[in-house]
This record gives sequence, structure tokens and C-alpha cells, in this order.
Amino acid sequence: MLNLTTMMEELKNTKEELERTKMELGILYEISNAMRTTLKLDEILYIILTGVTAHIGLGFNRAILLLVNEKEGLIEGKMGIGPESGEEANSMWTQIEDDKMDLDDLINSFKVSNHMQESGFNKQVQYLKIPLQEKNENLLPLVALEGMPLHLTRETIQNYKNNQIVKILNSPELVLVPLKAKDKVNGIIVADNFITKKPITKDDIRMLTMLANQAGLAIENSQLFEKTVIRAHLDSLTELWNHGYFQYIFQAELKKAEAQKTPLSLIMLDIDDFKVYNDSLGHQAGDTILKELANMLKKQSRKMDYVCRYGGEEFTIILPQTDRKEAFLIAERLRENIAKHPFIKEEILPSEKLTVSLGLAVFPEDGISPSELLHHSDKSLYEAKNKGKNSTCC
Ligand code: GH3
Ligand code: MG
Ligand code: MG
Repeated sequence: MLNLTTMMEELKNTKEELERTKMELGILYEISNAMRTTLKLDEILYIILTGVTAHIGLGFNRAILLLVNEKEGLIEGKMGIGPESGEEANSMWTQIEDDKMDLDDLINSFKVSNHMQESGFNKQVQYLKIPLQEKNENLLPLVALEGMPLHLTRETIQNYKNNQIVKILNSPELVLVPLKAKDKVNGIIVADNFITKKPITKDDIRMLTMLANQAGLAIENSQLFEKTVIRAHLDSLTELWNHGYFQYIFQAELKKAEAQKTPLSLIMLDIDDFKVYNDSLGHQAGDTILKELANMLKKQSRKMDYVCRYGGEEFTIILPQTDRKEAFLIAERLRENIAKHPFIKEEILPSEKLTVSLGLAVFPEDGISPSELLHHSDKSLYEAKNKGKNSTCC
């Protein structure tokens, strides 16, 4: 009799365990399917975090995703999902329940709402930049370097109370899990239950680790794809944006300027007497100059500007949110720096130094369409050449 009871008990436990495993696999399957529907990084990150936080997913209250930027030696906050208060949590979770939203619905809501992108929590996360080296000072580099999940329990979290991420989350318990692609850590998920205070279990961490392995690969794929797309838009000699991308981004930036009612300037730049240089020293020497000049233009432009190779030895620079006065100052600074810069064998040129002429066009005064503005900047450039070159006209 006793034996039968024990057996029944064991059977019941096994059944429960099976049910739970089935549910867990179902969740992971759904999330990984969703990740395969897109190659856009921000959509992938959103799917991962929705999977971690949805009640029908892993069910954490809140989650942050950070990516390792090896080139800059930083771990950078990318996205944070979760309510900012108990009240918000209640209304969010009630709505999800009332609308009977499943994981798919939640994921699709990213494209329609930008509530999440604008939340204070998400913005705070996006400011996070932590040096990879600070192993002793910081939790995140530790997780990135060791590649192992880290559970900060109610007891151990005290040792990290001055840590940036612990301070931001201000939660009694946290878990940090590395994302991996081919054994290399490329990101970290941090999750907590700061509203419900539900303890984080071994099972929670196991599930999160399984999801993290899939997520790491999806992120790597998306980053490779983005790199390939970028390469297709670059000019192979100068690595500036090519003509095709210039046309595309110029139109897009003009639309933005129109919608936001902000000015936009376009600089067209042409090397003076470049034919003489090429004819005397050969095309290869000319190409070296083009590369050097392109590097200077890129280095001396702002992050928000688009420096493009329009064709041959002509370059365009799109300056969003920039009026005529500011654009003229920028153009003149470029011109002066180029004139001052010692280019190899420039003494063979008529003026004995390599110089450029620049033409300016400003949205909306000089035109509103790409072709009107291009025409205007071309005309200004022609004027600069006529004035004796090495000058800017607007
Ligand atoms: P200007 O001062 O009026 O601009 O005189 P220019 O000689 O520079 O004339 P133009 O702007 O028409 O420049 C055309 C010359 O630029 C022809 C060619 O020698 C050179 N060029 C154009 N594309 C390339 C290129 O890809 N590589 C090299 N090396 N030279 C180029
Ligand atoms: Mg030219
Ligand atoms: Mg020229």
C-alpha cells in the first residue's frame, strides 16, 4: 500500500516535470521562430526581451540587453523592457490579459507602438557604457569575460550595491546571463522581478541560459547582415558612402527635415586642377590623393553628417539640421584645412598646392527636392571655380 502511494507520488512528479519541460520547450520554440522572421537588430533585441519578460514567456518583471562592442572596448546598453512602477505594471499586465495577447501579439506590437522606445527605463539603459577592462569594478565585464551566468541573491547583492547596473535596477535580486555566438560572449541579459519580488529559481536561470544561447546567434547573424548591407553602400576606393546611397539618404534626410521643419545643407566639393595631377603623376597617384582626402573629410565631419563620393573627384556632404551660416563655416574650415595639408608632390599643380572648391545649397531656401538642391550646389561650385578656385560659394 505504502509502495503504491510512493509510486503514485513519483508518477505525479514526473508528469508535472514533463508538463513543465513541454511548456518551456514551447516557449523557446516560439521565441526562436520569432527571431528567425527578421534580421533587423532592434527587432531581434525586442523579441528576445519580450520572451524574457512576457508572462507567457519566461515571466521576469524586467530585462535589459547589453551588447559587447569589441572595437571600442565597451559593453553598451541597447534596450530595456519593463514597467517603471507597480501601477504601470498592473495596467500593462491587465491589458495583456484582457486582450488575450500571446507572445506573437506582443512581439508584433513593437512595430505599432513606440511607447517602449520612449520609456524612461529604456532611455536610461541606452546611456549605459561600461569599459570591458574593469573586471574588478564591474559585474558586466566579469560576466562577459567568464561567460557564465551570475545570480545576485538577496545576500550577495549587498557586495555590489555601488555597482551601476545594481543601482539602476534597485532590486533585491538579479540575474545576469551572457549571450554567446561561437563561444564568444557578444552580449548580456540582466533580468529581475522588482515588482512581484518572486525569487529567481534555478529553473528560471536554466531557461534564461537556453534562450541566451539562441539569442546570441540571432544577434550575430543580424550584425553580419547589417555589416554586409553597409559594405554594399560604400565606395570601394574611399570607403565613403557611394553615389547610390547618397541619393537614397539625401531623399530620406530631406523628408525628415521637411517633417521636422529643420534646415539641411548640402556641400558639393571638387578638387582643383586634378586632371593636371593625374596627367603628370598617373592615375594611381591620383587615387592615393582621393583616399587621403576622403579620410580627411570623414575625420573632420560631424557624426551626424554623411560624407559621400558623388563620382570621380567630386564629393558631397549632407549636413542635417544645419543652416547656411553653420554650413558655410564648416565648408570653409574643410577648405582651409585641405589647403594647409601637405599632399605628396602637390607642387606640380598650377597653384603649387592641392586645393578644393565648394558649392553650397540649403533646404528649403535654395530648393526643396533633391534635384533642385543638387543643381543649386553645382551652380555654386561652378561659381567658386570661376572666382579662381580654392573657395566656397553659396
Ligand atoms: P577643375 O579645377 O575645374 O575641377 O579641374 P579638374 O582638372 O579637376 O577637372 P574636373 O573636375 O573635370 O576633373 C576631372 C579629372 O579628375 C579627370 C581625371 O583626371 C580625374 N579623376 C576623376 N575620377 C578619378 C578617379 O577615380 N581617380 C583618379 N585618379 N582621377 C580621377
Ligand atoms: Mg570634377
Ligand atoms: Mg576638379
